[in-house]
Amino acid sequence: MRSVIFLAIAGLSVFGSAAAQNNKPVAKPLKLYVVTGGHDYHMSFYRVLDEPGFQVNLRPHPGAFDGDLRKRADVILLYDMAPVKEIGEQGKKNLREFLESGKGLVILHHAIFDYLDWDWYTKEVSGVTQDPNRDRSRPDYKHDVSLQIEPTAKHPVLSGIGPFHITDETYRGLIIAPTNTILLRTNDPTSDGPVAWISPYKKSRVVVIQLGHDEQAHLDPNYQKLVHNAILWAGGRLN
Ligand SMILES: [Zn+2]
Repeated sequence: MRSVIFLAIAGLSVFGSAAAQNNKPVAKPLKLYVVTGGHDYHMSFYRVLDEPGFQVNLRPHPGAFDGDLRKRADVILLYDMAPVKEIGEQGKKNLREFLESGKGLVILHHAIFDYLDWDWYTKEVSGVTQDPNRDRSRPDYKHDVSLQIEPTAKHPVLSGIGPFHITDETYRGLIIAPTNTILLRTNDPTSDGPVAWISPYKKSRVVVIQLGHDEQAHLDPNYQKLVHNAILWAGGRLN
C-alpha cells in the first residue's frame, strides 16, 4: 500500500469549472465530498475527480466528518485509510446519519481498510473486512500487477464497461461478504478475485472499488468511467 507522493490540502475545492467554461446549461452539480488522510496517494487521483457536473470538496482527516454531512454532500467518496478512533463518536454519528438519509457512498482502493474496528460499518455498509486468519507468509498487496478484469453482473455502474486490462495494485486476505453483488473480478492469484462490488446496505447506495493505486489506474479511461458511474449511481443520477 506504499505510495510515493503525499498530498493533503485542507478544504481544497477542486471543482466543477469545466461545466461553467463551455457555457452550456448544466444540471445541478453533484456535491462530491472526498475524504483523504491516513494514506499517501498520487496527484493523478485528482484527474479522476475532474468531471463536469461534480462539485468536489476535498476533506482530509482529522475533522472530515465534522458537522452535518447531509447538507454538504450528495455522495461521499472515501480515499482515506483510518481507524475508527480517527473519526470519533461524533464523526461516526454524522457518517451514519448521512448514510441512513439515503445519500451515496463510494469506497476506493485503500479506503477498503477504513474503520475495520467499527462493526456496523464493515458488516452493514462496506461489506468487507480484513481476514484475521489470512496467510501472513505472503504479502497482502502487490503493486504494478497486469490484470485482466471481467464484468460479472449487469448493473448501471458498468455502463459502457466491458472486459478490460489495467495495471494496478491488488489486495488479498480480505473477507468480502457473500451478500455483496460482485461487479468486476480478476483471476490474478495476487488478488482475492472481486475488485468492485455493490454492498447489501439498503438505506443508501454503496459501491466499493478495489482498484485505484496510482496513475496507471487513475489515468485509465475504463477506471475513470467506472468511478464516474459509481459516483453518479450512488448519487441517484444513473439508473
Ligand atoms: Zn495502493
